[in-house]
Amino acid sequence: MNLLPIFLKLDGCRCLLVGAGNVALNKIDSLLKTGLRLRVIAPEAHPEVRQLASEGKLEWIQRSFEPADLDGNLLVIAATDSHEINALVHRGSVERGILSNSVDDVPNCDFYFGSVVSRGDLQIAISTAGQSPAVAQHLRREIDEQLPADLGPWLESLGQLRREVLETRPSGEARKSLLHQLAQRQVCESESCPSRQLALAPLVEEQTADDYTAIPDEHLASLDRLDPTAAFLQETQDTHKVWAETVHLVGAGPGDPDLLTVKALRLIQTADVILHDDLVPQAILDHASPSAEILNVGKRCGGKNISQAEINSMMIEHARGNHSVVRLKGGDPLIFGRAAEEMAALAEAGVPFQIVPGITAVFAAAAAIGCSLTSRNSASNVIFSTGHRAQSGNQDNQDNRSPLPELEDATRVVYMPGRDLHLLAREWLQQGLPPDFPCVVVSRAAQPGQQVRRTTLAALGDAEPVLAPSLLIAGWAVR
Ligand code: SAH
Repeated sequence: MNLLPIFLKLDGCRCLLVGAGNVALNKIDSLLKTGLRLRVIAPEAHPEVRQLASEGKLEWIQRSFEPADLDGNLLVIAATDSHEINALVHRGSVERGILSNSVDDVPNCDFYFGSVVSRGDLQIAISTAGQSPAVAQHLRREIDEQLPADLGPWLESLGQLRREVLETRPSGEARKSLLHQLAQRQVCESESCPSRQLALAPLVEEQTADDYTAIPDEHLASLDRLDPTAAFLQETQDTHKVWAETVHLVGAGPGDPDLLTVKALRLIQTADVILHDDLVPQAILDHASPSAEILNVGKRCGGKNISQAEINSMMIEHARGNHSVVRLKGGDPLIFGRAAEEMAALAEAGVPFQIVPGITAVFAAAAAIGCSLTSRNSASNVIFSTGHRAQSGNQDNQDNRSPLPELEDATRVVYMPGRDLHLLAREWLQQGLPPDFPCVVVSRAAQPGQQVRRTTLAALGDAEPVLAPSLLIAGWAVR
C-alpha cells in the first residue's frame, strides 16, 4: 500500500493531542510551528507543556481522555504509553472520519510523521511506512549533512525573485528556463548579484518570450564588471550571451574517502561531469552519481597525453553545456595542481569557478608518521617545494630560491621528489644542511599500502625506493 506524502497547511485548524509527557512534548514543537490550535488532554503534564499552556500557546485540559474530546478536530495525535488508550483514540477518530496518529504504535495510525530535514521553507520528509524509524533517522542525518546551512535564507531570497520574474516576464519556455537557471544557486542576497540583476533587467522591445537573453549591452557590460566568480555570462561567437555552470576546482585529499571535506563529497555526489587526476582513487570516484560522466584527465592516464589546454577546454565546454563540473584534484587544488592555469582559462572564458580546498598530501603524511610540521624549538617555517624544480639541474634554482631565514629552522616538504634523491640531497648538503638532517619519505599517505622510510640527508639517496605517490619531509621536527 502506497502512502501519500503531503504537506498540510494547518494554520488556525484544531488539533487534539492526547498525552503530555516526553513523547508528546517531542511532537508539540513541530505542531505549533504550523500555526494550528492545539488542545492537550492528559491528567499530568511535563513542566514544559504546563509552561506553554500558561503562555497561552496551547490549551491543556487536566483529565483523562474521553471519546467526545475528538469532536471538531481536523487531526488527532495519541502520545501515551498505553496501547489501550491509543486504540480508543484511533477507533473514535475512525468513527468520526478524523485522521489520527499514535506515536510508535503502527496499528493505531492513519498517517505517520516523517523524519524531517528542514532549512527554512525547504522541508524534506522521510517515511518508511513504519517499517524502520531507525532507517528514516539515519537517512535524515545523511541528508542533513549534505545540505548547505544557508539554504533557508537563499530559498526565501529566490522565492521573492521568482515572484518578481513571474510578474514581469511573459510566460513561456524562456521564463521557465530562466527560473531553472536561478534555481542552480546562482542567486545571492546581494542587490548586485548578477543573476538577480539579469532576472529583473527591463525587457527591451525586440525581446521575445524565447529570447530573454536579449538584454541591453550597457546592462550586460555592468554585469560583466561584477565579481568574476559570480558572473555566469559569457560571449559566444555570435555575441549572444549564454549561461555557464560554475566549475568547482575540488581538492580530493590524500586518497582516503574519509578525508574528503563535506563540501567535496556533496559536489562529487551531485556532479554531472568529473574531470579527475591520476591521484584520485576509485574509492572516491565511487561516490559519484551513476549518471555522472567521469573522465580521467591525468597527464599519465594510460599513456594518453592530455594537454593542459585540452583539460581547460573540456571544463569550459561542459560548463557551457550547463553541466555541473567538478575538476577533482588530489590533495589541495592550490598545491602543485596547476590550478592557476585552470583558473586563468576559466576566467578568460567567463566561466565562474569556485575552489574547494582539500587536505594536502603532506598533512596526511605528517599524520601518518605522527610528527608536527612545526616545532617551537626546531621548525618555525614550513617550506613546500617540488622536486621537479629541485632536480631539474636548472641553474636558476639557486637564484630564484628565497634565502632561508635560518637554513635548518624549517620543515621542508618536497612534493614529487622523483626517484633519484641523490641530486636533491647533494644540493641541500651544498647549501649547508648537515648530513644528519632527518628525512622521511612517505608513500601513499592515507591510502592502502602506506609506507614510511626514515633516513638522514646523507643517506637519502640510498633510501629504498617506494611506490608513487610519495613525498619527502625533512627537518629536525621529524626526527
Ligand atoms: N595537489 C596535491 C599535490 C599534487 S603534486 C596535494 O595537495 O597533495 C603530486 C604529488 O603529491 C605526488 O607526486 C606526491 O609527491 C604527492 N602526493 C599526493 N598524494 C600523496 C599521498 N597520498 N602520499 C604521498 N604523497 C602524495
